[in-house]
Amino acid sequence: MSSFTDAARHIPGGVNSPVRAFRAVGGEPIFIERAGGALIHDEHGRSYIDYVGSWGPMILGHAHPEVIRTVQERAALGLSFGAPTRIETQLARKIGELMPSIELVRMVSSGTEATMSAIRLARGYTGRDKIVKFAGCYHGHSDSLLVKAGSGALTFGVPTSPGVPKELAAQTLTLAYNDAAEVKQVFDAVGGQIACIIVEPVAGNMNCVPPAPGFLETLRSVCDQHGSVLIFDEVMTGFRVALGGAQALYGIKPDLTTLGKIVGGGMPVGAFGGRRDIMEQIAPLGPVYQAGTLSGNPVAMAAGLKTLELIGEPDFHTRLAQTTTQLVEGLAEAARDAGVAFSTNHVCGMFGLFFTERAPRSFTEVMASDADRFRRFFHAMLREGVYLAPSAFEAGFVSIAHTQEHIAETVRAAQAALQCMNTA
Ligand code: PMP
Repeated sequence: MSSFTDAARHIPGGVNSPVRAFRAVGGEPIFIERAGGALIHDEHGRSYIDYVGSWGPMILGHAHPEVIRTVQERAALGLSFGAPTRIETQLARKIGELMPSIELVRMVSSGTEATMSAIRLARGYTGRDKIVKFAGCYHGHSDSLLVKAGSGALTFGVPTSPGVPKELAAQTLTLAYNDAAEVKQVFDAVGGQIACIIVEPVAGNMNCVPPAPGFLETLRSVCDQHGSVLIFDEVMTGFRVALGGAQALYGIKPDLTTLGKIVGGGMPVGAFGGRRDIMEQIAPLGPVYQAGTLSGNPVAMAAGLKTLELIGEPDFHTRLAQTTTQLVEGLAEAARDAGVAFSTNHVCGMFGLFFTERAPRSFTEVMASDADRFRRFFHAMLREGVYLAPSAFEAGFVSIAHTQEHIAETVRAAQAALQCMNTA
C-alpha cells in the first residue's frame, strides 16, 4: 500500500492541507522524509530541487544548521509554559526593527489566525462590519476571508466554502486586484461602512502577480479618506520580497500587518501588529478579544528569531533576487527555444510561471493561463527531479541555498520537460 493510500484511510484526502494532495495536477503526492538546503528527499530516496520551501518559510533553505541548533537548545529548556518568556519580546523587537510600521505586535500560531484577528481588530476599532478583499487573494481560511479566495480554494473551484454563513460573506466586498478605479468607486459609495482593506501587497495565491503602479497608493489614500484600516497581509511577502517586506519595497505604510511563514522559520508562528492606537484595542489592554494557548511558543520564537537574524546579513535579498532572476530568465529562454508560449512574474524571492504570452497583471488574466499545460509541465519537471508547487495558482519560492548549479539543473530539466510536452 502506498503511503498516500494509507494516509487516506485516516486523514481526509490523505493530507492535512488540501493543495498537498496533487488534485490540481493529478497523481499521488510524494511523501517527504527529510530535506536539507535546496533539496527535499522523498521516502524512496529520490531527491528534488525544491521550489515550494514549505510554501514560503524556508528562505534559508531546509534544516539550516544554525536554526536547527537553536531549536534543539531551546527545546531542551521546555516546550511550552503558557506564561511569558523573554524570547517573545526579542522576536517582537526584531519585527518592529525590520518593519517600523509595527509599533506593537501579537504572536499567534498561523497566518490564518493572524489575518482573522487583524480583521476582528479592524472591525472593533472602527465599529464597522464591512471589509474589502480582492478576488484571488488568500488570507487563510477564517469565515470572513474565505470568499473568492485564491490558492487551494481556486484550485478546487470553491471560492466560497459551504459552512461560511451567507450573512457574514455578505459583509466581505470582493474587488478586482490591481483595479484602482473600482476601489475608488466602492469607497465613494460605501466607504463610511468599511472597516478595512486587506490585501496581499504582492499577490502570491493566484500564482504571483505584483501590484500595478499606483494600486497600493490608492488603497492607502482611500483608507485615509474614509477612516478605514489598511491591512497588508505579508504572511507570504514579509521578509521575502525585501527584508522590510513589501511595505519597504513599495514605500507604503499600512496600519496593520499580518505575518506568518518566515517569521516562524518553519515552526508554526503567525503575528499581527501595527499602529499602537489600534493594537491597544486588543485584550488585555482593550475590549477586542484574542488569545492562544501556544501563542509565543518559545521553541517557535527561537526558530523565527534566528531566521530573521540570518536573513539580515548584508546582500541577502540582493543575492536572493539574483537567483530568482536567473531562474525565471533561464526558464523563459528554455520555453522560447521550445516554441512554447510562456511568461513569468517575480519579485525578489518569489516567482510565478504562466503558460501565456504575456505575464498576467490581474486575476482574470491568471485564470486565462493554460492550467492543463502547467499540469503536464509539473509532472515532467517532477520526473526530472524538480519539485514545483502542485497547482498553476501558487507562487514559487527560491531560498538562499539555491546555487547556480541548482538553477542550471532546473533549466536543463525544463528544456527536457518542454521538449516532451511538445511531442506529447
Ligand atoms: N495569508 C497569506 C498571504 C498566505 O499566503 C497564507 C497561506 N499561504 C495565509 C494568509 C494563511 O496562513 P496559514 O496557512 O499559516 O494559516
